[in-house]
Amino acid sequence: MPQSKCLFCRLYAEGEHVRKAGGFAALRDINPKAPVHLLVVPERHVDTFRDVAEFPAEEARDMLEFVAETAREEGLEDYRVVVNVGLGGGQTVFHLHWHVLGGSPALAGFE
Ligand code: AMP
Ligand code: ZN
Repeated sequence: MPQSKCLFCRLYAEGEHVRKAGGFAALRDINPKAPVHLLVVPERHVDTFRDVAEFPAEEARDMLEFVAETAREEGLEDYRVVVNVGLGGGQTVFHLHWHVLGGSPALAGFE
């Protein structure tokens, strides 16, 4: 269920998306850490990757495929996929999301 105070529930419903299909949206990170920095946000609100088992198996698979398709459609062949897990892992928005970073060989500097 969408959570009224959750930024990414709101952005999923109302935001500007690069693409949106089948319960997933890709949007540009407001503070990009690479030439291409997209966020893949599922419609389903799950607080953190720790709770990834809350996704039905097929939906979890579709989410991974959506991440790969998003990179492909953005023209990326080589890229990084990052999930920050919990405060200590750098997570600031507690709605599971996938960072897709590309467009630069300096990506190793992403923190
Ligand atoms: P994380 O730190 O892994 O939780 O990632 C949250 C990401 O959301 C950060 O990279 C932020 O720059 C990004 N972000 C925060 N607010 C917005 C927004 N309104 N639109 C797009 N990206 C955002
Ligand atoms: Zn949410």
